[in-house]
Amino acid sequence: MAAVVSALNVLRNPDAELFQCPSTALLAKLGGPTLLYIQGEQDPPLFISTLLHGNETSGWAALSQYLSHNPKPKRSLIIFLGNLTAAAQSVRSLPGQVDYNRIWKDATGYEGGLAAELMAHLQATELFAALDIHNNTGRNPHYSVLTSITPESMGLAYLFSDKAIYVEEPDTVMTRAVHTLCPATTIEVGPVGDLQSDIRTFELLQRYMDLQEIPQQDRSNLRLYQAVGRIHVMDDIDFDFADEMNGARLATDDLILTAGMEAVNFHAVPAGTEFAFTRRPLHHTLRVVDPSHKDVTDTFLTELHGDVSLQRNVIPAMYTLDHDVIRQDCLCYLLEEIVMR
Ligand SMILES: [Zn+2]
Repeated sequence: MAAVVSALNVLRNPDAELFQCPSTALLAKLGGPTLLYIQGEQDPPLFISTLLHGNETSGWAALSQYLSHNPKPKRSLIIFLGNLTAAAQSVRSLPGQVDYNRIWKDATGYEGGLAAELMAHLQATELFAALDIHNNTGRNPHYSVLTSITPESMGLAYLFSDKAIYVEEPDTVMTRAVHTLCPATTIEVGPVGDLQSDIRTFELLQRYMDLQEIPQQDRSNLRLYQAVGRIHVMDDIDFDFADEMNGARLATDDLILTAGMEAVNFHAVPAGTEFAFTRRPLHHTLRVVDPSHKDVTDTFLTELHGDVSLQRNVIPAMYTLDHDVIRQDCLCYLLEEIVMR
């Protein structure tokens, strides 16, 4: 019988030496995706996942700093260190690799096996709460992402920020899978390389460690947004940002995007605002999908003589200038504020 090769490395109460490693050195140390069990002063454990995107380092920076100083944390921790091969090269994911935050439902192959193994570990344990730590990929405020609106998920979100986004899709993200087991949130802590992002994450970790129960919040203190669309650049389209072109707006690129949109993440932008320029039909270049994957391009964008503008008022979020993120994920999300009734 062939040996079953495990995709997930499991380590209980690792040596303190591990917490001296930067995220780029974790692959050499651990060999691949790893689950750490760390016994604390009380149970049930808090589950934390990070490095699902290899270049988003604030989660590990905060955890390794906390655990260096608190070898026995106030609460037990189960820590999943995700895409360490990408982390070793400081990239979100390697070329051709599946996005590790899109493997938590119906994934196949190596990543599907990894997800199944991890979920089996989590299902075998009572969990206090779950936290998935990411860095923002564009210029955005820090905020939480919820996959369900409950007093507990809003309470955990409010520990971090007064802004939270409720996201229904993609439905393959880790927080959606883990939320079936315990209250779970994702946090987007700020840009990589900004010391404030690491400090903010460390402080949140301390707040979690002081919790005796899950805090509860209603919507009155939280600015809660809902994603109503996602804008994608079509795969075969070359694109650039107006800012990167030094005003050479009428180049031969298929699509020129208005980079200024990044500065208005989380702000209401009125209908008619310029969004892009293209010589091709709008439907060949940009596609907006709603949470049920329906094409809603014409609801949000309109094109006249090559100028693409907003068809209605929107709140853009996670608008990014990172070409890799745009290719692998999307250009931006479109939000609406969920108004309290
Ligand atoms: Zn991420």
